[in-house]
Amino acid sequence: MHAPAAQTPPERTLIRNIGLLLSGDLNQPLLDADAILVENGVIAAIGAGRELADAGPAQVIDANSSAVMPGLIDSHVHPVFGDWTPRQNQLGWIDSFLNGGVTTMISAGEVHLPGRPKDIVGLKALAITAQRAFSNFRPGGVKLHAGAPILEQGMTEQDFADLAEAGVTLIGEVGLGTVRAGEEAQRMVGWARKHGLQSTIHTGGPSVPGSSYIDKDVVLEADPDIIGHINGGHTALPVDQIRCLCEGCQRGIEIVHNGNERAGLYAARAAYELGQPDRVILGTDSPAGSGVQPLGILRVMALLAGVGELPPEHVVCFATGNTSRMRGLDSGLIEVGRPADLLFAAEPQHSAGGDILQALAMGDLPGIGMVMIDGIIRCHRSRHTPPTSRLPEVVAP
Ligand SMILES: [Zn+2]
Repeated sequence: MHAPAAQTPPERTLIRNIGLLLSGDLNQPLLDADAILVENGVIAAIGAGRELADAGPAQVIDANSSAVMPGLIDSHVHPVFGDWTPRQNQLGWIDSFLNGGVTTMISAGEVHLPGRPKDIVGLKALAITAQRAFSNFRPGGVKLHAGAPILEQGMTEQDFADLAEAGVTLIGEVGLGTVRAGEEAQRMVGWARKHGLQSTIHTGGPSVPGSSYIDKDVVLEADPDIIGHINGGHTALPVDQIRCLCEGCQRGIEIVHNGNERAGLYAARAAYELGQPDRVILGTDSPAGSGVQPLGILRVMALLAGVGELPPEHVVCFATGNTSRMRGLDSGLIEVGRPADLLFAAEPQHSAGGDILQALAMGDLPGIGMVMIDGIIRCHRSRHTPPTSRLPEVVAP
């Protein structure tokens, strides 16, 4: 574990000498600024270093010309308790993801809990426990939005009201429980939406024995907020069905690492053809049978930019601002008033690309030099990425 002692951010931090400032916002992916002022963990100003330096005494970080972007958001994880996953019997996986640039995660259901309760009282209790536990404990400082109950037959609107009342804000992947038919899923997704709970659905073939097959008709009828792993988890729907999903609704198009890469590329291109790249969001769908991938989000970014030939500055938005907007989060954008969840990254050493965007376009993984969450430095040079060419440094005090 690499959780530092500091729990409160410095009153003021000046980040200067930023080589490339990537906003996370598809409407303006690159910002014309080389410095950020952070006050009490929140982005207070964005501009020129020599001007922001007048704000007063501060911790100073020299970005050494690395890029700064919002911390990455993994839209699809399956946590259980703390920093342990029983799926691969591994400890410290969330802290490892921090070293892959991930600062926020969204649970798609705490499905890997051994002996997971499937009765309605039990599944509600588990969701409330997970929501509470991850609110109280952030491995490595990562913000994990958890407490995502798996829908089972027999749930009533009152159950959704109870969950909302208790502070639960999500439902887990529809289709992992006994609710698999379109009409039944639609009714429950509707109750969830009415009570302010965000929904996602399993799309494609079963992930592991015991999981289900969900086709485009079920997804469109259920109408969840997010088309969970549109590229399968891992078995994908045929591409004509993926196209129907992109065309047939305006919901989030989630592409995951532990899915079918070919189908993921197809879905991303379909979003562009529809003029709707703002719907594309990224996840890992891990821990899973395929394992745990600390660099999973970076790998999907490199896949989409390198093999898919999508604009690398857009791909950054898929992993940050798009997810922020579709998920209603406050993090994921470089904007005044947003939490200072920041990723310092650059082209890795010996990359053929001259900066992070060129490196991504060539399919290289960026090198991470620092990760900040709520203004607190949570990781310096990543222990997992290839070494960055431009290492940020705390130069004062
Ligand atoms: Zn799934």
